[in-house]
Amino acid sequence: MPEIRSNAVTGDWVIIATERARRPEEFAEKKRRPALPAFAPECPFCPGNEDKTPAERFRVPAAGGGWLVRSVPNRYAALTAEGNVERHMEGFRSFLSGVGLHEVIVETPAHNLNTALLPIAHLEQVLGAYRHRLRAFYEDPRIEHVIIFKNHGEAAGTSLHHPHSQIVGMPVLPGQLRARLEEAVRHWGDRGECLYCRSLQEELHDGTRMIAENASFAAFVPYAALSPFHVWIFPKRHSACFGDVSDSEVSDFALVVHEVLFRLHVALEDPDYNYVIRSLSPQECAVKYFHWYLSLIPRVTRTAGFELGTGMFINVALPERSAEFLRGAILPD
Ligand SMILES: [Zn+2]
Ligand SMILES: [Zn+2]
Repeated sequence: MPEIRSNAVTGDWVIIATERARRPEEFAEKKRRPALPAFAPECPFCPGNEDKTPAERFRVPAAGGGWLVRSVPNRYAALTAEGNVERHMEGFRSFLSGVGLHEVIVETPAHNLNTALLPIAHLEQVLGAYRHRLRAFYEDPRIEHVIIFKNHGEAAGTSLHHPHSQIVGMPVLPGQLRARLEEAVRHWGDRGECLYCRSLQEELHDGTRMIAENASFAAFVPYAALSPFHVWIFPKRHSACFGDVSDSEVSDFALVVHEVLFRLHVALEDPDYNYVIRSLSPQECAVKYFHWYLSLIPRVTRTAGFELGTGMFINVALPERSAEFLRGAILPD
């Protein structure tokens, strides 16, 4: 019989469709990605083409000149960086001026590298760049919320191959975050504990859905995973803000992100995926009820009418088996 599991963190119901469940290896991508050159002359993110992007805002310099990571305003920004936030209420209707910040973080000079295959020391620089840009975005008083995300592959919404992530600062609080905050506040009010710290304790204690762990982080497929191989990476130290991570925590974060991406890359043959860092602002680091985290969603299935119509999810993979499959992936040296 299928199980309808409750995801305490998101407040979602998830149908774990055990009868329709597919074996983990059936989710492996059958398509082959095109072989890419290390340098593509027409790519705006390749070295030598720096003048094809808007003026750079941040870079991690390379030892011998050039750069390792750079952040540039998105040429096709969703929001405009100029202007004031003006809120208009006209009867029933309300709107704001579309002001915000939107940058692309180019993760490496190499056009053909895959984030899952970046050396750990390099991934650490990428995550350090995330922290730097998040802090900088929140210094802008117009910004209420900042999201960091990555789209890998066409099913995840990108056709640009050069490894990159994005960061968007917006003048409103998105509904999804508001819903999570409401769940978190309710749990805090009812139980006097952080919902995320508690979920992490439960996952560590249970162990069947764990994928990777180190001194500062744990990665697991949540009990009520919304989709196959949905992974959460939680910091073990309670903090509401990613901007608060220390240098040594960034190192540990890189280790665990690398391990998860690499295991997915090997086990599911480089699947398309999205990941997102959910965090509050540096002014809210000490908030007791919220806990920053990274959510990774391999795009191995599609959502359809049922999900759109209900906001409920159908997961055709058993979370315990997904985690076991990723743990068991035999990693090449
Ligand atoms: Zn490129
Ligand atoms: Zn917590």
